[in-house]
Amino acid sequence: MDTKIYFDNAATTPVRPEVLDTILPYFREYYGNASSIYGIAKESKRALENARGQVASAIGAKPEEIYFTAGGSESDNMALRGVAEAYAKKGSHIITTKIEHHAILHTAEYLEKHGVKVTYLPVDEFGKISLEELENAICPETVLISVMFANNEIGTIEPVAEIGRIARKHGVLFHTDAVQAVGHVPINVEEMNIDLLSMSGHKLGAPKGIGAIYIRKGVNIEPLIFGGAQEKRKRAGTENIAGIVGLGRAAELAVAEMEETTKKLTYLRDKLIRGILENIPYSRLNGHPSDRLPGNCNISFSYIEGESLLLLLDSLGVAASSGSACTSGSLDPSHVLMAIGLPHETAHGSLRMTLDRENTEEEVDFILEKLPAIVQRLRDMSPLYEEAVKNDKE
Ligand SMILES: *Cc1c(COP(=O)(O)O)cnc(C)c1O
Repeated sequence: MDTKIYFDNAATTPVRPEVLDTILPYFREYYGNASSIYGIAKESKRALENARGQVASAIGAKPEEIYFTAGGSESDNMALRGVAEAYAKKGSHIITTKIEHHAILHTAEYLEKHGVKVTYLPVDEFGKISLEELENAICPETVLISVMFANNEIGTIEPVAEIGRIARKHGVLFHTDAVQAVGHVPINVEEMNIDLLSMSGHKLGAPKGIGAIYIRKGVNIEPLIFGGAQEKRKRAGTENIAGIVGLGRAAELAVAEMEETTKKLTYLRDKLIRGILENIPYSRLNGHPSDRLPGNCNISFSYIEGESLLLLLDSLGVAASSGSACTSGSLDPSHVLMAIGLPHETAHGSLRMTLDRENTEEEVDFILEKLPAIVQRLRDMSPLYEEAVKNDKE
């Protein structure tokens, strides 16, 4: 079935038409290598620095603090490995959380194999870390705190400014994976005491395979990739000018439109959440009720498999995502849903719908109309459901 309703914007977003228009000339006309000195290359260099300025101002940073990478995963790897190596003499302890993206978690596991101690902070039922537990975890060996800005599955926004204050007070660097947050919620690295920040183009209307890392002036990191002198020797490789120009434009647009988009998405999100919880029994909202990404709706339905739900939705032309097993290639449900304390069965029956500026109220209404019957159809096949209903009646 062709996708008619795209509710998986946390997985990736389409390239915005305005962004595509901006980047096409950098494939066709201005294809020069930004490191060369002739005319055509000057435009590449100019566009590179212009985009750096756009990305910097989207997060309240200085242009010279922005380094372009090939995406969020690379930026996350670079932050953790880069800081762990550069500050190895100071100490070898990192604090992160149990609900990070795998780009953080698997890098942390790699570092553990190389002698770095890692604390994985738990989260409460809404997906938030405890500031007290964070502060207690800091020791003289601690070189980095890495806590995501907003979670990609349940949408919970972490208390970033408070984390920044604690990190600063203890002289520990603070990195945040802000891939889901940049262009979606207000960010100011100065006010929030953020020292390193990861972002990715394809989560905000720019192409896949382009990202950036903000590194505060004065913070040292070892590069991940060696080669030429690009990006002040912190990230070698001929710059992806078209991607970079796209990221700059997308960040600029997203920030300019943020207030309006947030208002619209919050309305759609809350209508979707309320409509589901009111009309489908044995359902619960995952993530924080208010401190959550404007476009994120994540709901667990007891007694069904998220995968089956996705297939039925796909047959109606709806693209969404689930926290259950099969797609991730493992039998365990999402580590995020486990961390907020969901029982296995409930975690398996979860549905993530993530909306963005293109989505409409008609689409939300369509889901609200169709979903109850789909869920019921799946539950009718479940012996557990039959039993639960019987017990509830008694
Ligand atoms: C998508 C995502 C990433 C990975 O970014 P890529 O550009 O796909 O490598 C990292 N962290 C979070 C929170 C994400 O949502």
